[in-house]
Amino acid sequence: MTYCGHRFRLWLSRPVGGVVKTGSFTQDARGRWYVNLQCEVPDATEPVGTLDLGIDLGLKSHIACSDGLVYRRDNLTRQYAEALAMAQRAHKKRRMQGVQVKMDNTRRDWAHKATTAIARRAKLIVIWDVPSTKFFKTIFAKSTHDAGWGIVRHQLRYKAIRLAGVCVDGNERFSNVTCADCCARSGPRGLRALGVRTWVCTCCGVAHERDVNAARNILAFRTGRGTPVKGIPVL
Ligand SMILES: [Zn+2]
Repeated sequence: MTYCGHRFRLWLSRPVGGVVKTGSFTQDARGRWYVNLQCEVPDATEPVGTLDLGIDLGLKSHIACSDGLVYRRDNLTRQYAEALAMAQRAHKKRRMQGVQVKMDNTRRDWAHKATTAIARRAKLIVIWDVPSTKFFKTIFAKSTHDAGWGIVRHQLRYKAIRLAGVCVDGNERFSNVTCADCCARSGPRGLRALGVRTWVCTCCGVAHERDVNAARNILAFRTGRGTPVKGIPVL
């Protein structure tokens, strides 16, 4: 690549698609240089995805889809806590920065892969509208921050547009406690219920994976499809 009369050798992290419009150089905390290229890629005219998907963003680093698919990744804050603490104790500033950059990169990479996969599958995405800042005040602050849900929501929005799909806000109220099969509010309640991954509806006997059940409700509350919802207004 030639820029301002200087030649640069670079390694492509992925193939360049579309027409290159602008570019910039950035340096990360480790001192490594990156070239960012902004390319023009035409949006799809027909929806690429075929499904209507409700999305539940879990507190423990995963995205649950209403069709049962759950995208998970490790809790990076916890995973790298020891390495970060060791570098801190040894006053190794560069090593600390290195760990931080690695965490940021891993988080971003995972979010991109998951949101691309979801946007490719869905023509309609319904995602809950609770701002994650609400959770920063709770005991789950660390997990919520680690999950980086703002990034996921943002990526789903623009990727849906690019693939001719639609991404809208949904209501997550009661989505955790409502049975997506019979609509009874028979699920586990309260903060303690967050530790419960699976539960069985006391009304219809169907076993639920908590987050997939919530994702199914988020979709149903918005589209009103499926079984009628008891006691919950259909939006
Ligand atoms: Zn039920």
